[in-house]
Amino acid sequence: MAFAQCGAQALDSAATRRKCGSGAVVSHGVRARAGCRSLGIPRNARLVSRRLVRMSGELPETYKAAVTEGNGADYVFKQVPMPSPGKGEILMKVHVTGVCHTDLHAKDGDWPVPPKKPLTGGHEGAGEVVAVGDGVTSLKIGDRVGIVWLYSACGECEHCIKGNETVCEKQQNGGYSKDGSFQEYCIADAKYAARIPDGVSYADAAPILCAGVTTYKALKESEVKAGEYVTIVGAGGGLGHLAVQYAKAMGMNVIAIDGGEEKGAMCKKLGAAHYVDFLTTPNTVDEVLKITGGKGSEGVLCLATSNKVFNDCVQMSKRYGCVVLVSLPPGNFSIPIFPVVLKRITVRGSIVGTRQDLAECLEFCAQGKVKPIYRTQHLDDLNDVFAEMKEGKVAGRIVLEL
Ligand SMILES: [Zn+2]
Ligand SMILES: [Zn+2]
Repeated sequence: MAFAQCGAQALDSAATRRKCGSGAVVSHGVRARAGCRSLGIPRNARLVSRRLVRMSGELPETYKAAVTEGNGADYVFKQVPMPSPGKGEILMKVHVTGVCHTDLHAKDGDWPVPPKKPLTGGHEGAGEVVAVGDGVTSLKIGDRVGIVWLYSACGECEHCIKGNETVCEKQQNGGYSKDGSFQEYCIADAKYAARIPDGVSYADAAPILCAGVTTYKALKESEVKAGEYVTIVGAGGGLGHLAVQYAKAMGMNVIAIDGGEEKGAMCKKLGAAHYVDFLTTPNTVDEVLKITGGKGSEGVLCLATSNKVFNDCVQMSKRYGCVVLVSLPPGNFSIPIFPVVLKRITVRGSIVGTRQDLAECLEFCAQGKVKPIYRTQHLDDLNDVFAEMKEGKVAGRIVLEL
């Protein structure tokens, strides 16, 4: 019985498999095709240990997973064996998955830390728990959950203890160091899976699981208070349109910057008080200063993928203001040192969010204050979506149904 690499993490768990005398590896909840005479297991018997794994009815033996060999190779669709959740893990049925720009980097392997190979990407997967492993007490079958970028953290290091689990050095990442949601079923860590509130559809939840929490956390990191200005550079994109809504819901005074009338209309509709169109505005820095009475913006969120923009972000900042960097364009960027020092400006990075941030930003959705804009396609379209992404043609988010 040959297991594909995908899902191997679950199948390798000693707690959930057993090696039969015949050499067949049987997992709890996985049909033993070869049978196992030494254990008295008849051919095709379903092996389920009630003690270790609680399952939701009958699950198929195999399911469809998108798998890439990495280094830019296209995803191929394979039937892979159903994994069984190990200790502290859940098995979720993925109903929808978002596609994040990070997934493109994972597929291409162009980041300093390489992803696992072969890889099933995806870290905006929303679905329901269909099996729980040993020791899982926080989730049960039927719960609505999401698999996210912060797949797990150690929970013991200085950063985890201080509540900064997003920078844990021992963290695992969904769809990067662990297989993610570009498959019909996936394993997640019960402690770190997101809980999706009732009233938030799976499709609405998916973009929140990465894009939403990333922008919400960045706004918190900006330390902008209600009534103060936050300038969002790249406000009309997949991250930006969520940042505008969160900022508005948090009581911030939003200055949205992007290009074109269509994006302007959208930003205004979503709650931006001002829109600066960089295509028609000769100097966007001057425009932001004008709007803020010459003082600058208390917070500036940089979501744009152009290095040139970083300099502008600093120039738009108020004295004692904070520039939060979120986007990751290749290469380095330079910032003007004089205003940073003389105006005591903070330039800060921000990466996804903690479990608490996730819970908070999903709650904004449940309350109807934030609603992602996305286009729906099918997992089968995954390679086309990446091709479109590479050409920079994707507007907003894409949610794939499975
Ligand atoms: Zn992401
Ligand atoms: Zn840690």
